Amino acid sequence: MQSETLWEPVRPFSRALVVVAHPDDAEFGAAGTIARWVAMGTDVRYLVVTDGASGSADPQMRRDRLVAIREREQRAACDALGVTDVTFLGYADGYLEPTLEARRKVAAAIRHHRPEVVVTLNPDVRWSSWGYVNHPDHRAVGDLVLHSINPAASTRLWDTTLLDEGLEPWDVTELWLMSFGDGPHLVDVTDSFDRKLAALRSHASQPVGLGPGAAHARDRRAARHQGRRGAGRGLHDAAVPGAGRRRLGPGVVASPRPTPSPRR
Ligand SMILES: [Zn+2]
Repeated sequence: MQSETLWEPVRPFSRALVVVAHPDDAEFGAAGTIARWVAMGTDVRYLVVTDGASGSADPQMRRDRLVAIREREQRAACDALGVTDVTFLGYADGYLEPTLEARRKVAAAIRHHRPEVVVTLNPDVRWSSWGYVNHPDHRAVGDLVLHSINPAASTRLWDTTLLDEGLEPWDVTELWLMSFGDGPHLVDVTDSFDRKLAALRSHASQPVGLGPGAAHARDRRAARHQGRRGAGRGLHDAAVPGAGRRRLGPGVVASPRPTPSPRR
């Protein structure tokens, strides 16, 4: 846990690409922020790397049936948030590895969408301070994105077959990492919290406790944050009230860790 929390100002980007392991990762982690960006005019697009086929405890459920359900739920969540585009890479849920083949696909998406900001999962998180043991797919997708930003998306000659497909190199300006509540930055999503809840409820196959008690949980959460920050501040991106942030490029450090070198 970070000793000091920073409030991240939200400003619009031209385009944002949210790259996650599973349907629902983006909604738990950053939907309030995404809704705020959309309201400001940011064109937000999703890349979902696995098929979500492991996400059920129902003895009657089959993996192939669940894939279709979760894709439908993710599209509904995107509609609720105003996300304009969602692509599913279809890797098997629970088995994702940061392979070169997968890196090429993520890099191709970054070159295609040309995002100013990329949001993904922090690959350094092995467990959270509130007791969550991180899913290996989450760490794998974080590695895939970081290694795509540098070098696969940004370096012209990394794979010239990308050029053959018309995918020119692209430099991502900012990288936001969802950190399961342990990141140093919080985003105030008071104004977009209802849209976050609506997006989460789109994932009906996932038992997340968003029934009538959700408002109560929200109130308790608000009280907790007010206790920390003083009255007047509201809710924050819930399951992940914190996103480690790295601004790529020279000179800017917004975290206690070293800023990655911009290229190569
Ligand atoms: Zn997940």
